[in-house]
Amino acid sequence: MNAPRKALPVIDLERCTGCGWCVAVCAPHVLSLQVQGESSWGAKRSTLHDAEGCTGCALCALRCPFDAIRMVRLRPAPP
Ligand code: SF4
Ligand code: SF4
Repeated sequence: MNAPRKALPVIDLERCTGCGWCVAVCAPHVLSLQVQGESSWGAKRSTLHDAEGCTGCALCALRCPFDAIRMVRLRPAPP
């Protein structure tokens, strides 16, 4: 079994520019750029589409040039 994740990225949609750097560095490919909300003008923002697949490595947060990702600690799993 994989080691349990200790943290998950939370993306600040106000700061995210949709540049895609975080998507590029995410080895398990659990981040993607997706159109947010119902706007039809196509603004894309980074989205964690598969939280289960995230390893919590924090590379995305380190790579983001706009400081739009922060890692949020998860509570330990119940025994
Ligand atoms: S690197 Fe940062 S600004 Fe760029 S898409 Fe990812 S979260 Fe958004
Ligand atoms: S913490 Fe690592 S695995 Fe999780 S979304 Fe960021 S780069 Fe991908």
